[in-house]
Amino acid sequence: MKRFSFFALFIMASIVMVLAGDSAGDSIVNPTVPYSYEQMLADLGQLKQRYPVILSGGSIGTSVEGREIPSVRLGNGRHKILICGSMHARECITTNYLMYFIEQYAKAFVNHDSIGDYDVNLLLGNVSLYIAPMVNPDGVNIVQRGFEASTRCDSLLRMKLTNYEEPAHRSWKANARGVDINRNFDHGWEDRPTDSLPASSGFKGFAPLSEPESRALAGFAKRIKPEAVLAFHTQGEEFYFSTPDSCATAIAARLVEATGFEPQPIDPPYGSFQDFVNLHLGVFYACVELCDYIGPRPYPESDFFKIWQPARHVIPIVATGIMESQR
Ligand SMILES: [Zn+2]
Repeated sequence: MKRFSFFALFIMASIVMVLAGDSAGDSIVNPTVPYSYEQMLADLGQLKQRYPVILSGGSIGTSVEGREIPSVRLGNGRHKILICGSMHARECITTNYLMYFIEQYAKAFVNHDSIGDYDVNLLLGNVSLYIAPMVNPDGVNIVQRGFEASTRCDSLLRMKLTNYEEPAHRSWKANARGVDINRNFDHGWEDRPTDSLPASSGFKGFAPLSEPESRALAGFAKRIKPEAVLAFHTQGEEFYFSTPDSCATAIAARLVEATGFEPQPIDPPYGSFQDFVNLHLGVFYACVELCDYIGPRPYPESDFFKIWQPARHVIPIVATGIMESQR
């Protein structure tokens, strides 16, 4: 009898532990709190462990302060799409968006679920999403922890502040050398005058591709040769498209319809990642501005689902469009 009681207790305790483990392990990503670089690395590690059949990854390069810039490959298909976030430091909610996306789709894949109208097994069996959730980790670190948290604090404090509010570190857009990564690419760089010195935003650098972050992204894009590119930013529910063919035009129309975001006319080349993609890859490109413009500060993570909801199908719409165009 006594032995039975112990046995029953053991079984019950095991069940409780499994249940507790299940609920605790249910979600790895919490998108409603600030996403630090270290948290992102830890979560990517856990996600790869939990979903090895559909998620793998590595690094695309190293930042100014020596942080590895991670990317993951989500999907096993032959069509490649390159996706990046947090190129601009204060737009770091884009990392939350991409991390949340990765977990939702990896989970749906192993559970054979659909998300909205999208059969995730079909999608990720045909498409490989190469996702770099935080291209500018040093800048995000400055926004989240202040200038003192940077190894380049003294030089940051001497830099010009543009379009900012106090506390100034919360408005930071550039990398840790005061270069705006999205002005540092090699198409149109010469043509667009900017500030002549490093600044919190808008300085294009002393030469095209002078920064390790822009070189990492450029090199990665050239290596994988994606059929479409998506870059996530946050300055006012808008799109900037490059639509080199009718398929790309159709994808753009679907995105506008699904999100309600406004398509914007494209500026002449000015050294942006979009200009780089146009010159070197000539494929569909969308710069997605995820949030209403709220001023020069990060979007509040507690409101994450307000931005997730309208934009939740952006990536599957592009993936489906690419799949259908090249069947
Ligand atoms: Zn931006």
